[in-house]
Amino acid sequence: MSKRDYYDVLGLKKGASPDEIKKAYRGKAKELHPDRNTDNPRAEDQFKEANEAYEVLKDNDKKAAYDRYGHAAFEGGLGASAGRPGGPGFGGGAGGQGDFASAFSDVFDDLFGDFMGAGGRGGRQRAARGADLRYNLRVSLEEAYGGLHKTINVPTSVQCGPCSGSGAEGGAEPTTCPTCSGMGKVRATQGFFTVERTCPTCSGLGQIIKNPCKACGGNGRVQKDRALSVNIPAGVETGTRIRLAGEGEAGMRGGPPGDLYIFLEVAPHELFERDGVSLHCRVPVSMSAAALGGDIEVPTIDGGRSRVKIPAGSQSGRQMRLRGKGMPALRGGGTGDMFIELAVETPVNLTSKQRELLREFEALSEDNNPESKTFFSSVKSFWDSMKG
Ligand SMILES: [Zn+2]
Ligand SMILES: [Zn+2]
Repeated sequence: MSKRDYYDVLGLKKGASPDEIKKAYRGKAKELHPDRNTDNPRAEDQFKEANEAYEVLKDNDKKAAYDRYGHAAFEGGLGASAGRPGGPGFGGGAGGQGDFASAFSDVFDDLFGDFMGAGGRGGRQRAARGADLRYNLRVSLEEAYGGLHKTINVPTSVQCGPCSGSGAEGGAEPTTCPTCSGMGKVRATQGFFTVERTCPTCSGLGQIIKNPCKACGGNGRVQKDRALSVNIPAGVETGTRIRLAGEGEAGMRGGPPGDLYIFLEVAPHELFERDGVSLHCRVPVSMSAAALGGDIEVPTIDGGRSRVKIPAGSQSGRQMRLRGKGMPALRGGGTGDMFIELAVETPVNLTSKQRELLREFEALSEDNNPESKTFFSSVKSFWDSMKG
């Protein structure tokens, strides 16, 4: 079944504004809600369809991709341009790093959203959120193939133990800032205008600490290495980001922590070159093996080997495909193929016996080099035409 246009699904025209999209979705959601449509068996599917359309159109990045590429933006992404920045392949495992990261953050937002939001709401900022951290992780192509579980040591700041993050000696409660009476802001009148500024005494926190904790100097956090175990899914690429919500620096004075971003880099491999989910391997074959044909054994990324039949008379550059022997796509969606490219190797270091045999072979050659024959006949007619 072909998919309906997302705008059609919500009853919108292309180019609808975010407000229109939201409104249209609310209307549809009300109309199609399964609880209100117990006698309409199609309502559930239509409801899901509307949800899916809204998931895409409410998100600026996804909407832009959809406007440009249609549904193809979220399909396999196995096209030639998959994996390159700016190409389609948004939802595919091959490309779509951005989408992958945001999918992760969606998951984490679901899990931690409430917890994360707790510190930031409200007019007065009580405690500052900790900084986000970036951690660069280099993995081998084999690890990117199989996925891995890794423990990393992240130098970060954690909540101070002696003051339980409050920043006050002995864990005493901070007191209300006398300058701003706890508002975090002070007002100054300049001519006709009243200007609001962040309170200079408490830096906007609204509270001050009379006796700062000696262990942390009143920050409520101390430097420390933390060991984190991370799951790296199979199929990651250079540039893939994994967000670990709440694993960044601890906040100031008990504020919410920042996030940790793991930036992945996949190291180049000696044998395989990767292009999205495809792997390429250049395999040298001897001149006589290429001429006679036969079986060769090639390595595969899972550490195994595959037997490949070389047809007699294979030329340099001949490609062969090994289905399903490439890289896995990040979010499911199958595995790519491996391509081997034959490189016929001209023999070197000939013995006199070998030279003799090759001369004999050459003398016996007639229709053995059709490409040379075609080439030289073209060359001849080219020269003839130049003369004419
Ligand atoms: Zn203040
Ligand atoms: Zn402390």
